[in-house]
Amino acid sequence: MNIVLLGAPGVGKGTYAGLLSKRYNIPHISTGDLLRNAVKKQSVTGKKAKSYMDKGLLVPDLLVLELLEKRIKEKDAKNGFLLDGFPRSIKQAETLGKKIKIDKVLSFEASGSVIMQRLGGRRTCRSCSAIFHVKNIPPKKEGICDKCGGGLYQRDDEKPEAIKVRLETYKKETAPLIDYYAKKGMLLKVDANPPIGQVGKILKNCVETLDKLR
Ligand code: AMP
Repeated sequence: MNIVLLGAPGVGKGTYAGLLSKRYNIPHISTGDLLRNAVKKQSVTGKKAKSYMDKGLLVPDLLVLELLEKRIKEKDAKNGFLLDGFPRSIKQAETLGKKIKIDKVLSFEASGSVIMQRLGGRRTCRSCSAIFHVKNIPPKKEGICDKCGGGLYQRDDEKPEAIKVRLETYKKETAPLIDYYAKKGMLLKVDANPPIGQVGKILKNCVETLDKLR
């Protein structure tokens, strides 16, 4: 099953995706992670993408598509995937719709204050990209990833100025996708306001719907 995850930056899509990925044994594919890896490797695509990403702006579609198309052809995605961070505009949704059948779109929704609090405290592992939060999901040892022992850092685009731009970009470019997919009858809204410790509660209605798709 091919699932798209929608939601403002910071809503917790990555955390929910990790759990759904384990339950359905399909990979969590994040275009943000694909781009960050390309930047880390200093590939041609990565070099082109970096300046947009650091400012919190959208990277040109062609660069993102190049990475995404390659990733979804990998073996582990043959039974489906959870797509996080793509599409991010109506244009990207139209492109995606022409290339692949999407079964369901989960829209994770939380208030502005919840989102700001989650984003500002987030820390990411430099090695395996695992996500922590200084308050909500603290690592066992400060600054160190529980999963691989890598160092944790605050991404440039999670600093206040970039957060502001990302939330504005989300509102303008990505939020219209909620209506776009609702009109197609593909949308499932998920209340992501409860604390991250209550993921079971948050994911309950997703799981009920997705189980039927298997
Ligand atoms: P994310 O981790 O999903 O918040 O993505 C981090 C950054 O990567 C975004 O702020 C954008 O600069 C870029 N990015 C990720 N996905 C896309 C996309 N579908 N289209 C354009 N830019 C993207």
